[in-house]
Amino acid sequence: ARKPLIAGNWKMFGRSADLGEIAALAETIGPASGVVDVLICPTATYIAAAAEQVRGKTILIGAQDCSAIADDSARTGEISAAMLADAGARCIIVGHSERRTLHGETSDLVRRKAEAALAAGVTPIICVGETQAEREAGRVAEIVGLQVRESVPEQGANIVVAYEPVWAIGGTRTPTLPEIAEVHTLIRRVLAERFGDQANAIRILYGGSVGPKNAAEIFSVEGVDGALVGRASLKAADFAAIILAH
Ligand code: 13P
Repeated sequence: ARKPLIAGNWKMFGRSADLGEIAALAETIGPASGVVDVLICPTATYIAAAAEQVRGKTILIGAQDCSAIADDSARTGEISAAMLADAGARCIIVGHSERRTLHGETSDLVRRKAEAALAAGVTPIICVGETQAEREAGRVAEIVGLQVRESVPEQGANIVVAYEPVWAIGGTRTPTLPEIAEVHTLIRRVLAERFGDQANAIRILYGGSVGPKNAAEIFSVEGVDGALVGRASLKAADFAAIILAH
């Protein structure tokens, strides 16, 4: 059985003052953190301080992005996966839709970032998901299938995949439970084409407007191995309620 992963993506929201929420979260979830993996991904500049907050606790700290270049090299402004690992990151989100849409990242670049994470011994959380227009055009399987094929490294099944429908992020709408189940089944089938039986160990998260109210029903969906949570991960009380809903 796959251990669920509940991951918080703080995006460009969480600041120094919010780091205390991590300690509060550890207090609130207590032993629940043994049965699920809990991850918080703050902005890179806060990773070391966040890692300090969780020292001796079971909460993991991760990053939101990394350079596709693995080697120490002349890349002004870039942060390598190895540097993020040095700071305490255990996972790195790659290919979030905000990076794909607002920062022009292609699946090819996302795959190279995932490879760089793996080379640094860090687990990439590879995000995929269709837009509203793609869903309306009946192209969900085509688009998500292609994103998985092109964004997931050929080698190395130590990855997490997050299904985040673009239209469900940052609002209130989510797909229906059968719609979520359908896409998770599709993603696992594509992963199995590449990794065979090893694909069974890969966790597939749902992301997009997960909150304390809908977490339990989303976690009840067959094939959903946890969540990637945006807004509701910033407040310890909300994020704890989501974790405890598993
Ligand atoms: P929200 O949970 O705020 O909709 O964001 C989802 C997301 O993009 C997580 O990566």
